[in-house]
Parts: sequence; C-alpha cells; structure tokens
Amino acid sequence: MADPTPKPAGCIICSRPKSPRAVYCKLCKKLIDRKDDRVKVITKLRVQALKDAWDGQCFRCYYSGVRVIEDDPDSPRYLRFEHRTPGDESSVVIASALMNDMKSDMDESEFREAVKQIYGKFFEGSKFDEAVMDLKYWRR
Ligand SMILES: [Zn+2]
Repeated sequence: MADPTPKPAGCIICSRPKSPRAVYCKLCKKLIDRKDDRVKVITKLRVQALKDAWDGQCFRCYYSGVRVIEDDPDSPRYLRFEHRTPGDESSVVIASALMNDMKSDMDESEFREAVKQIYGKFFEGSKFDEAVMDLKYWRR
C-alpha cells in the first residue's frame, strides 16, 4: 500500500536531494545530529534556525551574513549553532565560528554594545565604556 502522506522530494531544511524515506539531506542530517554539551538540544528549533539561515544556495551567519561552511571545523566560517542568549536553546541561530567565538558568553545586546564600543570608541581613540564588561552570562 502506498504511503498516504508522501515525504517531500527534497530536504525539509534546504530542499537539496535526499533519499526517499529521509526527512533531511545527508548534510542537514549531520548538522541536526551534532552533539551539544552546553544546552539541551531541541531539534525543531535547530531545524528552524537552519531554515532561517538557508538562502537557497548556502547557510549564512546570523551576525555577519557570510556564507558558513558545514565540513571544516578549523575554518572561521564553520557552521555553529549559536545562542543569542547564552544557554537558551529557544534563541538558537546559525553563526560562523569566528562570530560565535567573538560573541562568547555575551547575549546579543551585550555583543552589539561591545562591538559599538570597540569600533566607535576604541578604534577612534576615545575612552571605552567599561560598563560594557558588566556581563550577565559570563562564567569562567
Ligand atoms: Zn538539507
């Protein structure tokens, strides 16, 4: 008997070819299956983050818009699951390794303010507002 609800022809994230019984293409399946020690992974949120980052050709970084790559962990463009609020899986987005490392344990607004201070003040020779370093999520 035929399956009454046939699966879509392409990957539900990127529309690239997949095997007929699969939901994801091989590349997206690897991304969805990644382990994460920092948070409890919620697959549907990661699927949505990947869909949001997919531009029809490639995944793009939430913070920089650069093309991220899926298969070279040593690249600054390596695709990472990034949390706009550290530790909060509901805020997961796709980011390049470089932006993820720069943002570190800052939330998105802290990160934006730190970048503004560095660019607008430090690079222009003005005094950096030290309050930028009063961070909510920083733990070492
Ligand atoms: Zn895919």
